[in-house]
Amino acid sequence: MKTFAFAVVICGFCVLQTSLAAQTGPRFYGDPPDDHHPWAVHDGNRPQPITVTPGTFSSQERPGKPPSDAIILFDGTDLSKWETSKGQPAKWLVKDGYMEAVPGTGEIRTKEKFGDCQLHIEWAAPATPKGEGQGRGNSGVFLMGMLEIQVLDSYHNVTYADGHAGAYYGVNPPMALPLRPPGEFQVYDIVFRRPIYKDGKPLDPGYVTVFMNGVLVQDHTMIEGPGGHMGRSRPGPFPAKGPLSLQDHGDPVRFRNIWYRELPPRPAEGGTDGWLSTEATMAKRKEIAAAIRKDAEQLISPDNPLPGMLRLMESLVYEKDETAMQKSERMAAEYVEGLKRLAPDKLAGKRDEVRNVSEVFKYLTRHGILPATFGPKNAIEQLIKDQGWDKKRQ
Ligand code: MG
Repeated sequence: MKTFAFAVVICGFCVLQTSLAAQTGPRFYGDPPDDHHPWAVHDGNRPQPITVTPGTFSSQERPGKPPSDAIILFDGTDLSKWETSKGQPAKWLVKDGYMEAVPGTGEIRTKEKFGDCQLHIEWAAPATPKGEGQGRGNSGVFLMGMLEIQVLDSYHNVTYADGHAGAYYGVNPPMALPLRPPGEFQVYDIVFRRPIYKDGKPLDPGYVTVFMNGVLVQDHTMIEGPGGHMGRSRPGPFPAKGPLSLQDHGDPVRFRNIWYRELPPRPAEGGTDGWLSTEATMAKRKEIAAAIRKDAEQLISPDNPLPGMLRLMESLVYEKDETAMQKSERMAAEYVEGLKRLAPDKLAGKRDEVRNVSEVFKYLTRHGILPATFGPKNAIEQLIKDQGWDKKRQ
């Protein structure tokens, strides 16, 4: 019932406000911004998420299609986006839609460098298992060329836990071993957030999440440096970007369908979604308020002052700007005075509009954005009472 009542109010607002507001969401509705969130709850001013056309899943016979915003690193045709660690043309084999490590030719890496990402990569160990432990179907996916998400034929193969397929090698074992038999393609979907440091101090340690064949094997595992063999890895800063490297561990492991998506920045690097510092929140709120005030300027018109007034008042939700506050109050007082001057039949036609404006005033005072003594609020409430509009429609 409560939701329904609110919905009625919102529909009224849609008529009053810009078409943009109508498209993106209600105003004066959810709880306003606070010290850690620059946006209100359900904020119509908040930017829309990007639209992505999803891809398709892979089968053993055929790799799937990447999503529309993926950056393709290997589509099965050539190694033009790859090189050796010395910057020479990559010498791995390309055949039937996959690339295969040629033992002794060394690791390969992408020419492109990137940091935080959603990475998709598929790999297959040799169909006929050879060797055991770390010596069976070993390769590796090195994020930023630094930390290794292990590639190993862990199917019915015993080795140390932090060296299995899906391990953050030398640091954290996979939570499970959901492997298909050797020869079949295994799918890794990785979410990588690199460590962010400022002045030698960690702002965000960085995390890696890995799904193997759709099963979670690393759950937001904290980054503890590059990992590695035998040595205890320690947390520390990473560069902003690095290449993706694939290991030559002497086994002809195959890879296909390699792509990544860039991820939006975290609060620690200027992103405005998530839990922000008070300083960053206030800076963003100021920016939003300024943009809305600018927009209000465009809307303010002597013939129809209401849309501009409401938009200006909206800016106060983000920043208590004294000039905007005074102007809002003046416009609101004029609006109410204007109502009082209307002929009874004209005023009667404004019932819904007036009640909606009153709701806006109530919202702003309820959240302490306007003082409880805000004159036009009391004036408009009195007018509503005088007209009997506070009673349920007969
Ligand atoms: Mg390896």
